Amino acid sequence: MTIKNNLRDIHNRIDKASTTQSVQLLAVSKTFGVEAIAEAIDAGERRFGENYVQEGVEKIRYFNEAMPHVGLEWHFIGPLQSNKTRLVAEHFDWVQSIDREKIARRLSEQRPSRLPALNVLIEVNIDEQASKSGVSVHEVRALADVILSLPNLRLRGLMAIPEPVADAEAKRRPLRAMKVLFEELKREGYPLDVLSMGMSSDMLEAIEEGATMVRVGSAIFGERNYG
Ligand SMILES: *Cc1c(COP(=O)(O)O)cnc(C)c1O
Repeated sequence: MTIKNNLRDIHNRIDKASTTQSVQLLAVSKTFGVEAIAEAIDAGERRFGENYVQEGVEKIRYFNEAMPHVGLEWHFIGPLQSNKTRLVAEHFDWVQSIDREKIARRLSEQRPSRLPALNVLIEVNIDEQASKSGVSVHEVRALADVILSLPNLRLRGLMAIPEPVADAEAKRRPLRAMKVLFEELKREGYPLDVLSMGMSSDMLEAIEEGATMVRVGSAIFGERNYG
């Protein structure tokens, strides 16, 4: 199977599953090299997700040089420490993993004025796992209010990484809870248009429960080897 075939298959599955909303694919390219990304670009992908700051910035710089006119969109989706915010603010187009006011403030301060506002999602720890990043449901509004007050950030929505589980019903529970929260916030007037959830193993369930963006890595690029 090639990256191109995998992408064709995934787009078909997304189209079938998304009956009520349009769904965007984020190709998660972490640990994969520029050749793999170039193949995905050749197949028509423009939106890529990276988890590690240094690795992501190197790829962004490479493609800015190699393909300055293709219009790629880079999403930072990993844990972000405050000493790495400047590189992210200077290179990425989106940050999906905002879970602290301090990180939000630094990203806004460090966003270069020549660039458009940085699109951000709030990461929600929807299944309340003790060891995980993300804000709890009752902290989302306070963080959203801070982000809305920052000039160089643009709040776009919510992101979640539910714990992988085998049971079909348990898999849907956090996805459903995210959709409920997303709709509640919109009803309250928060200007959200992106609900990012679903990975290779729960992409279809996430779409059926209302995801507007799925983040897919291994189903496109293959198994990852962490060196
Ligand atoms: C790695 C990663 C993905 C993609 O996971 P796959 O199982 O390879 O599809 C999606 N979202 C986040 C936050 C990730 O770290």
